[in-house]
Amino acid sequence: MKIGMNIGGFALLSLLLFGSSLSAQGVITKSNFRIEPTMTAEEMAQVQVRPVPGKENLYVVPGSGGISGGNVIFLVTDEGVLVVDNKFFYSYSEIMKQLRKVTDKDIRYMLNTHHHYDHAGSNGDFLADGIPILAHRNVRTNVLGDERNAPEGAPRILYDTRATVVLGEQEVSAYYFGRGHTSGDSIIHFPALRTVHTGDLVLWGPRPDGSILSPFFDYDNGGSAAEWTATLDGLLTLDFDTAIPGHGPILRKADIRIFRNKLDTYMTRIKVLIDKGVGRDRIAAELDIADLDWPKPPGRIESVYDELTQ
Ligand SMILES: [Zn+2]
Repeated sequence: MKIGMNIGGFALLSLLLFGSSLSAQGVITKSNFRIEPTMTAEEMAQVQVRPVPGKENLYVVPGSGGISGGNVIFLVTDEGVLVVDNKFFYSYSEIMKQLRKVTDKDIRYMLNTHHHYDHAGSNGDFLADGIPILAHRNVRTNVLGDERNAPEGAPRILYDTRATVVLGEQEVSAYYFGRGHTSGDSIIHFPALRTVHTGDLVLWGPRPDGSILSPFFDYDNGGSAAEWTATLDGLLTLDFDTAIPGHGPILRKADIRIFRNKLDTYMTRIKVLIDKGVGRDRIAAELDIADLDWPKPPGRIESVYDELTQ
């Protein structure tokens, strides 16, 4: 994404305080995560609400290429709307604008797939509206501990292994299958619609620079590469045919198996090198994962080495 600067008050202040660390690729860094990028008309078209094909009353507000925030879901019922995720700190008004294109019903519940600022960034605005937010227990811990989240956005309704919300006679369940991207990733299951939102436990498709979105192990927030595959095996036990990933296009269950197997291959190859005695300083250079099309900076591979050898 090309980031055109919105030199409004906060943006300008941020630049003065922190200096500009916006790269040509529009990478979101710790110093620019609250700056709303200006999108092109083409990018705006990609992030408009649309129905999930074949799934009655289910809508997705897509992110674009992993940078314009995570995928948001609306489940519209006679009793109101259940929303999964809410993008960035500045996304509240845009999400409400998208919602009003498909219903005039009020939001009754918000669910977070995880705490990251591009998925739960506007929690505080929805809580201020009186909308209850449900998340895994560790999401609250992570929101309060991650400087990119506002503490007022910490969810207040917490679950440990499974929670179910009933709205419009439809059940929606949040499952915790274990660590992966973070320590608090939920799978949101719409059993009547045979659909899941995976959060960032599954990422799919290209970034704007053409590279493929790949799993990010957020070790600062309890993530685990070593346990992630088992977490995906938990997801695969659910009955679904359609999956909304954290970022990327609508997927089928078979795509989730492909993603799971790529991650398993990635981890197995690192373990083989460790078993051969390859040290931390050589692990990134020796690891051949070109066929996976998941480019990883050496530091990420070294972090996995550290997890596996600790
Ligand atoms: Zn994330």
